[in-house]
Amino acid sequence: MTRLKLAIQKSGRLSEDSLALLERSGLKFARSKDKLFWYGETLPIDLLLVRDDDIPRLLLAGVCQLGIVGGNVAQEKVLSEKASPDLQPLLRLGFGRCRLMLAAPEGGPIRGVNDLEGKRIATSYPALTQQYLENAGVRSDVVFLNGAVEIAPSMGSADAIVDLVSTGTTLRANHLEVIDEVLSSEAGLYRCPNPLSSEAERLIQTLLTRIEGVQQAQEAKYVMMHAPKAKLSEITALLPGAETPTVLSLEGNDDRVALHAMCTEQVFWEHLEELKKAGASAILVLPVEKMLA
Ligand code: ATP
Ligand code: ZN
Repeated sequence: MTRLKLAIQKSGRLSEDSLALLERSGLKFARSKDKLFWYGETLPIDLLLVRDDDIPRLLLAGVCQLGIVGGNVAQEKVLSEKASPDLQPLLRLGFGRCRLMLAAPEGGPIRGVNDLEGKRIATSYPALTQQYLENAGVRSDVVFLNGAVEIAPSMGSADAIVDLVSTGTTLRANHLEVIDEVLSSEAGLYRCPNPLSSEAERLIQTLLTRIEGVQQAQEAKYVMMHAPKAKLSEITALLPGAETPTVLSLEGNDDRVALHAMCTEQVFWEHLEELKKAGASAILVLPVEKMLA
């Protein structure tokens, strides 16, 4: 029988979210002692736990059919290998968000990408940096550093850096400031570019459907409220995406009804005041665990 291998980061910023997403999607694994290979018990999808940097290569080589990795790492690998066909995310996963930024000494002469002509730029992302420079028509010297990139300018080994930035604390500590964004990234579910057997393709589709169900449920809320019967259509219109709400009568009250509907949390907050103005009361918002079909 067909089994697929899905690579996730063994330990790091993506590990917990990757595993939690798969488990919420109904995948369970027999965790082996060596912790590198976990057998899939509920779907024929096994986990391979590796360094995140290895995931694009495993996908391109077809060793793993699926992988969860940051767009930054996937794109860097594709560019540096000139891989064709390249890696495209089947789904963006909404976690592991980070930004690859051009940063330079605070108050220094580098104010934009055009000031980089002939300068040295330290980075762990040489291919993405090179592409960024080429797009701007700028020629610079890209210096590869595998870590501690932010100290390069004060050490005198670079004029600017391209590095992942989250809060900017590390930059400030090194007297650097953000100049420009090179790439905005999040984790994605990727697949190997080669075509697979129809059974394997069906299995990937099953996994996609399940993850999408989990993603929709994360945004969905089940909203319950009491509302004046006369204002039902007005209130329903304030809850777009609520499809047809359930309306229940309230014992001993002919003017008001109970209304239950699904809507996204965002929509709910945007319309809360209007709902109250329209006479909604006893508003309850409940999480939705899963939304299937
Ligand atoms: P490994 O040992 O697996 O090589 P690593 O040290 O390269 O780990 P992590 O620091 O765990 O990697 O980051 C993994 C990925 O998480 C990054 O490539 C990026 O996609 C994403 N990431 C980076 N910084 C952040 C951040 N501040 N917040 C959320 N996600 C981030
Ligand atoms: Zn890594």
